[in-house]
Amino acid sequence: MTIDWNVERIAIVGVGLIGGSLARALKAACAVTEVIGIGRNEPNLRRAVELGVIDRFATDVEAGVDGADIVVIATPVGAMQELCGRIAPVLGRDSVVTDVGSVKRAPVEAARAAFGDNFTRFVPGHPVAGTEKSGVEASFAELYRQRTVILTPDPETDPAAVQRITDMWYTTGARVTTMTFGDHDRILATTSHLPHMLAFALVDFVASSNDADAHFELAAGGFYDFTRIASSDPVMWRDISLANADELGAKLRQFADHLQKVTRAVEDGDGAWLQRAFGNARRARTDALVQRERCDSKK
Ligand code: NAP
Repeated sequence: MTIDWNVERIAIVGVGLIGGSLARALKAACAVTEVIGIGRNEPNLRRAVELGVIDRFATDVEAGVDGADIVVIATPVGAMQELCGRIAPVLGRDSVVTDVGSVKRAPVEAARAAFGDNFTRFVPGHPVAGTEKSGVEASFAELYRQRTVILTPDPETDPAAVQRITDMWYTTGARVTTMTFGDHDRILATTSHLPHMLAFALVDFVASSNDADAHFELAAGGFYDFTRIASSDPVMWRDISLANADELGAKLRQFADHLQKVTRAVEDGDGAWLQRAFGNARRARTDALVQRERCDSKK
């Protein structure tokens, strides 16, 4: 979809993989005149300027967001409550705030508490795109192309603000869908948060064994394919796990029950059960990928 969207000044709080990639994509589309990067770490922000990702930076949040048309909070979720509290008093009259957090209930609650009447101008978002890498060096303009961005606006959210953020994401090449934050956190608990827990837990399990080095040395490609996402940022995933503890805890329990069935089948030598379960899994994964490719080719 081609969108003629542009904005004068955008402030990105947290110039890492996600914030940096958004800045790069908007610049590549000539959709923004000035990008201000905000963070705690001056050398990172200087590097972001050198890379052409941002035009200037601030380590003071209030100074950085002042005068921005759009403010994007792209930090780990655990930092968002404090950041919303700092942004709220300096938010411009027509500015819109959005976030990119991988959970949605916590940012919505933080924004509701901090923004008061201006909560209507907070558009919660989550680009379902990323890699296991972190930091501005890992950012790239094409990250969002043909990927889905989920917005979880509240019934109170100003439709014009939602449209502005929807068009911003269209400009990066993404497709945009909306749902409630409850549905988002429930579904992503299964498809994103649970796999990360499994990958982290498996590698931690192997690393804790007495002969971990021998295990890692002899591990085949499948081990590294399966655990790629265990190279993701620990702080980010700590925050996601804590912020979606109810949904994720429930999924982990359900999955542990399922794993018990697999354990029993292995111990009982129930080959028929195992073959059926593996066959179901292979079929479901193949069908899902075919469906996805079909959707991508229609874009
Ligand atoms: P990242 O590469 O580590 O970048 C996060 C940035 O936030 C860092 O550059 C850091 O810079 C800054 N930051 C951290 N704490 C801060 C604070 N208290 N105040 C101001 N800046 C702070 O992480 P990311 O992968 O871009 O993830 C950012 C957000 O996107 C997270 O909420 C995550 O849930 C979400 N997300 C991630 C992915 C993914 O695959 N990675 C996908 C979708 C959504 P300084 O050290 O300079 O402060």
